[in-house]
Amino acid sequence: AVVGLGASGRAALEVLGTTGATLWGHDAAESALDAARESGEVPAATTLSAAADPAELAERVLAARPDVVVVSPGIPAVSPLHVRAAAAGVPVWSEVELAWRLQARRPDGSRAPWLTLTGTNGKTTTVSMLASIITAAGENAPAVGNVGTPIVRVAAAGGADVLAVELSSFQLHSTHTVSPQASACLNLAPDHIDWHGSYEAYRADKARVYERTQVACVYNEADPVTRAMVEEAEVVEGARAVGTTLRTPAVGQLGLVEEFLVDRAFIAERHNAAAELATRADLAHLAPAGADVPDHVLANALAAAALARAHGVAPEHVRQGLRDYAPGAHRIELVATVDGVAYVDDSKATNAHAAAASLGALPAGTVVWIAGGLAKGATFDDLVAAHRDRLRAAVLIGVDREPLRGALARHAADVPVIEVDAGEDGDVMTRAVAEAARLARPGDTVLMAPACASMDQFRDYAERGDAFARAARELRGSR
Ligand code: ADP
Repeated sequence: AVVGLGASGRAALEVLGTTGATLWGHDAAESALDAARESGEVPAATTLSAAADPAELAERVLAARPDVVVVSPGIPAVSPLHVRAAAAGVPVWSEVELAWRLQARRPDGSRAPWLTLTGTNGKTTTVSMLASIITAAGENAPAVGNVGTPIVRVAAAGGADVLAVELSSFQLHSTHTVSPQASACLNLAPDHIDWHGSYEAYRADKARVYERTQVACVYNEADPVTRAMVEEAEVVEGARAVGTTLRTPAVGQLGLVEEFLVDRAFIAERHNAAAELATRADLAHLAPAGADVPDHVLANALAAAALARAHGVAPEHVRQGLRDYAPGAHRIELVATVDGVAYVDDSKATNAHAAAASLGALPAGTVVWIAGGLAKGATFDDLVAAHRDRLRAAVLIGVDREPLRGALARHAADVPVIEVDAGEDGDVMTRAVAEAARLARPGDTVLMAPACASMDQFRDYAERGDAFARAARELRGSR
């Protein structure tokens, strides 16, 4: 039974269709069943059914007595389906688990290795850097998983030399036997508490990325919880812990020495030396205009480099891959400059930890911050307290305004705060940008890094980012 018929659920059914299994496909919405039928991906013999109520959905799924339930990331860990399947002893797999089990074997019977990574922020950036690095080394290395390409289809088809796999905490929750060549948790900060039920449960699911690692568990020296996760993990004998740091690396780590990204982990031991992988200049295309390469970009690059080095990639290919990497949209993207004010779209900053990265990369007192949306149960006191000196003003949007409003009142009482509603035309972003433009002075940055999810007022973070870019460009047109 496949539950949740989004892209990964449909891919799961398609691949399962080749195994001779009897298939059910479930979703909360009728419209998803229609879309599944029309996609051409779902085998014709699949029994499709919809139930909007989570308890009824669970009942239907389990009533058919499936051997296994393949579950979409959209079904929360606290939902009746997870709870009742566990009680009934029915295995629940993520699409990632299914991919591992159905992965095509190479002529010698082995699997193409997986390099897996998770973290609260930087996953998509880092997995794309990783794929770019391995591609520079001449191997076929698709970026798959949470980044958007269902992994089951790629794994079952075979043909990849190595898989660069982005994993969300949701996918990890139901992943049980994957044994990656190397793995990384980039960082951890509160997020998705409502889905997992608690911060501890979220942490525990993230930590699963390290289980059964064969060669290297990459952790972040600046985020001790990632090191603790490695220490607690059950790994293959001989696998080692490799730290990344923005300081001078110790033996066994990757880090920075002046202008260089260096590797002191994957080098011949007799040297006790360092391999130079790249320079800061190789990452200059990832800095906001006129600013230094932000720390979080360096951290992501070091993590990608560590995973690639664990796979055996040579230093010059790490360098070439980082130079070739093109950043994704809506991630600290300069979309317009109007009257000397920069408009930066960081719509992908959907939690406080991500917003901290972009706020922290900008000079003090120069940021008009557009924030708000769905808070997902988070608080913003730490974020505002740490970055209040950056703010010239704040413009709040979205439904969960109280936690942001309160944090600003408590920690940044002198910062002007404007609240903006959607209004009759529903165009909240044009109003927010107009307010921000009024508050900004030449040399400032209007930063849309909302620290919240977007689905209260937008389809997704991309639509929110596009709305911001459009509003900023229209501003330019009107001047
Ligand atoms: P994810 O796939 O984990 O959501 P992305 O690579 O899409 O991460 O980046 C999301 C946002 O998180 C970016 O817009 C940026 O603001 C922030 N970010 C990226 N890397 C990091 C990091 N290492 N630490 C903190 N924030 C980061």
